This record gives sequence, C-alpha cells and structure tokens, in this order.
Amino acid sequence: MIQETQNSGRFAVCLDELGCHCGKFQKLHLPCSQVFVACKYAHHDFEEHIAPMYRLDQVSKVYESFFDKLRKEDYWPPYTTG
Ligand SMILES: [Zn+2]
Repeated sequence: MIQETQNSGRFAVCLDELGCHCGKFQKLHLPCSQVFVACKYAHHDFEEHIAPMYRLDQVSKVYESFFDKLRKEDYWPPYTTG
C-alpha cells in the first residue's frame, strides 16, 4: 500500500487490490491521480490498471458488425408506452 499526501488529505492506494481511498479508481476502473503517482513511485506501468473496456481495440469491436439501414419512418413498428 502506498500513501500520497495532498492538500486536501491523505489517500491510500493499493495497486494489488485496485483500490484508492478517493473511490474513483474503483468506480471508473481507470487510474485516478493518486494511482498515477503510486505507479510512478512503485515503477508500475499505469496502463496495466486501465480496464480493458477502455482500450481502443475493444472499443473498435463495437463497430465490427454491420448495421441495418434505417428504414423509412412509415415502416417503423408502432411505439407503445407501458
Ligand atoms: Zn484516487
């Protein structure tokens, strides 16, 4: 566990457990500023802590499949609520 002190307080970062006391690391699955500092201090590659869903090769897979043409509005099924 590595601790960083900032003007607003202290934050504990645990790179092994992918956690930081600020909570952003766990919520966003992206390194927060404290994790960047901890990685630099521990000589870790911060990119290892970026969730795969943010990687460009994963994002580009969304566009691998074909999309159907959008039909003329007259052919759309009726929209019902409830
Ligand atoms: Zn943090």
